[in-house]
Amino acid sequence: VECVQWTFDAAVTGDDSGELRHLAEFLANKQFDMVINLPMRGGGARRVSSFMTHGYRTRRLAVDYSIPLVTDVKCTKLLVEAMHRIGRAPPMKTHTDCMSSKTMVKMPGFIDVHVHLREPGATYKEDFSSGTAAALAGGVTLVCAMPNTNPAIVDRQSFQLFQDLAQKGARCDYALFVGASSTNFATISELAPQAAALKMYLNQTFTTLKLNDMLVWQKHLSHWPKRAPICVHAESESTAAIILMASLVDRPIHICHVARKEEILIIKAAKERGIKVTCEVCPHHLFLSTNDIDRIGRGKAEVRPVLCSPEDQQALWDNMDVIDVFATDHAPHSKEEKESDNPPPGFPGIETILPLLLNAVNEGRLSVEDLIAKFYKNPRKIFSLPEQPNTYVEVDFNEEWVIPECPSQSKARWTPFAGMRVKGRVHRVVLRGETAFVDGVVLVNPGYGQNVREWPLKKPTVAPSVEKINTSLDGLDLLSITKSLDTTRQAADYWDTDGHTNDSAANLADAQMRPYSPMPRTRCDSMSNYIKEAMAPGPGAVKEKIIAGKHVLSVDMFSKEHLNEIFNVATTMRGRVQKDRPLDDLLRGKVMASVFYEVSTRTCCSFAAAMQRLGGRVIYMDETSSSVKKGETLEDSIQVMSGYADVVVLRHPEPGAVARAAHHCRKPLINAGDGVGEHPTQALLDIFTIREEIGTVNGLTIAMVGDLKHGRTVHSLARLLTLYNVHLYYVCPDNLGMPKDVIQFVKSKGIQQWSCTALEEIIDKVDVLYMTRIQRERFASEEEYKASCGRLVLTPQIMTRAKRRMIVMHPLPRVFEISKEIDIDPRAAYFRQAEYGMYVRMALLAMVLGKC
Ligand SMILES: [Zn+2]
Repeated sequence: VECVQWTFDAAVTGDDSGELRHLAEFLANKQFDMVINLPMRGGGARRVSSFMTHGYRTRRLAVDYSIPLVTDVKCTKLLVEAMHRIGRAPPMKTHTDCMSSKTMVKMPGFIDVHVHLREPGATYKEDFSSGTAAALAGGVTLVCAMPNTNPAIVDRQSFQLFQDLAQKGARCDYALFVGASSTNFATISELAPQAAALKMYLNQTFTTLKLNDMLVWQKHLSHWPKRAPICVHAESESTAAIILMASLVDRPIHICHVARKEEILIIKAAKERGIKVTCEVCPHHLFLSTNDIDRIGRGKAEVRPVLCSPEDQQALWDNMDVIDVFATDHAPHSKEEKESDNPPPGFPGIETILPLLLNAVNEGRLSVEDLIAKFYKNPRKIFSLPEQPNTYVEVDFNEEWVIPECPSQSKARWTPFAGMRVKGRVHRVVLRGETAFVDGVVLVNPGYGQNVREWPLKKPTVAPSVEKINTSLDGLDLLSITKSLDTTRQAADYWDTDGHTNDSAANLADAQMRPYSPMPRTRCDSMSNYIKEAMAPGPGAVKEKIIAGKHVLSVDMFSKEHLNEIFNVATTMRGRVQKDRPLDDLLRGKVMASVFYEVSTRTCCSFAAAMQRLGGRVIYMDETSSSVKKGETLEDSIQVMSGYADVVVLRHPEPGAVARAAHHCRKPLINAGDGVGEHPTQALLDIFTIREEIGTVNGLTIAMVGDLKHGRTVHSLARLLTLYNVHLYYVCPDNLGMPKDVIQFVKSKGIQQWSCTALEEIIDKVDVLYMTRIQRERFASEEEYKASCGRLVLTPQIMTRAKRRMIVMHPLPRVFEISKEIDIDPRAAYFRQAEYGMYVRMALLAMVLGKC
């Protein structure tokens, strides 16, 4: 046990960066293999404030850096006791130790282009701080704030005030609208580069900015720069009118909160004619209708556009491909105002939009591709919003919950969606590298949010200490896909040459919805000690290179020490591959000759993959090659190939042929199987599999099943297993038993072995069930075949009697001796076994070439 300096006690609240950075560095540099963080007596974990404790942040960092974390006292005691007894890190079994019931999915930080934050003027309803906290709680990392405030944002002076307030208050990033008034069309366009967009109100709503004169509409449409967006509140016939007017001056127009069938259909028709129109739809028009008014209450249900008929609602769903954007029109008013005699129109919505949309995905009404396109990609393109670096949202697609009466962040203190049961929840929001929200708690302060329209001038700041986190998150990454779809800063680019807005979003996101688990996290391999030892041998750690330059012909050449050495290197290789840390400099410049006189695609590919992962190259020769056909002897071929290559891998159908060839091979020769003789690398990978899966080989009961007479893999395996203290069962028809010489050899090593003819006899005793292929042609008659093979097929029924921790192995390919249903059983190790083979072959190649 090595002690490290821990300085939490000295940490001062308010400025904890020093100590936490200290801790983060330990974790970032992978100086810890595991973090144990136990609750204090009396807890406190339920207090909201405990989210900010050092303990919480320690655990959070451990998770962020993918370092195994134990928080349970009993588990810790067992673990420490186990480590004490075996004297090293306990081996990890990925199929039991790395599973999670959660399907956490990483998605982009979402963008809401239509929110009312009520500041300046009505901060009792909402302000930048509360509204952007609500945004983060809803998985939204960028908002566009509307200008119908008090004062309204219609000139440089009010815009400056708007900017100042946002800069002080916003917790998430933002862009700010300016409003079109009946007089400002000549001057407001100066603000176009700094503004999110120009907002025009053509219909009555909660604003002083309504434009009654169509001539004023036209002036705004022609004055505002074409490449900067214009958003309009336009209902019914105004929709048609403004689309026509925009098309007459050939400029794009964005229609806010489309609610009615007639509106979505006119937009559809306009798009079909190539008119540059985009539109957004709000969650309350997608998920609520006039049917919900009584439940919500008359006053509370006031909203503009109003809640429409179920038919209108259905029309929105039917025309999902016409909708470009989902936006909330988050318009908070206090509960008292909404319940008064004169209720102002508007719903809060930013905290609930994503759960509602996730629920729609779960119900199959919406695709994930559409969700990302309409709530992230399209808003970015239409509004020319820059990418937020290191920003993402983790959602749990499976969590079911009921939307409460009062969502936690907005000052509105109510929601029209109260009581709705949804499946899907925001778990965590990371904004520019900083965890901004996690499990109900907003962690960033007012002022953290930045105006993205200032970014071309001022680079966005990304939390420096956390930058590395993202790269250590393996696997799923929607962001890498969306990055490739980088947008330019021109709204006009949203349209292709045909005027169509349908982008390639649908093609991009398939296969992206992968769960975090149960894919084993690479950090969980518990083998990093080996890695340090094997990859960075310090002075004095120089080991004898035991098999450098040697042929690998038979398992008889290996001692227990050899095996440990090979397996340690193989474990290192595995760790490096799974961590995506390339090893391609180890055998750079080396060439492997792959010489196969018998078809074996799997072994051939496994060796080739191993060589290429180490940076070497592969040349191939097979029995169809011309010189073999011309009658060239094996010896001559090997002589020639060993002149070309640094190592030769040979498979030959004739037992002993490989050993014969070795006499003529000046380079290390690896036996990749010779007839019914030996297949040493298979036996190595088999034992490596047992070791990785169960943690040890000693003391195990191992059953080999199938045609043991002709199966060379079991011959080599049985011989090699004699190096360990094991019990062996042979399960096979009488005439296909283990050859006498193998039985004799095993016996001479003092290993106990038994034979039987049916799986049922031994299934409850074994730790490893080694299945092999049953070859029909090996049986004397069809009757004998039928009588035997049924008793050698592994079925789910038989598996019910097997030990819970046993593993099923098979050298593959299997035919029917293992039922397909067993593939999903965690005990089925055969596909992992094939992968382990590559690591063992990487180790062997590196070692015979003297590199390890
Ligand atoms: Zn609005």
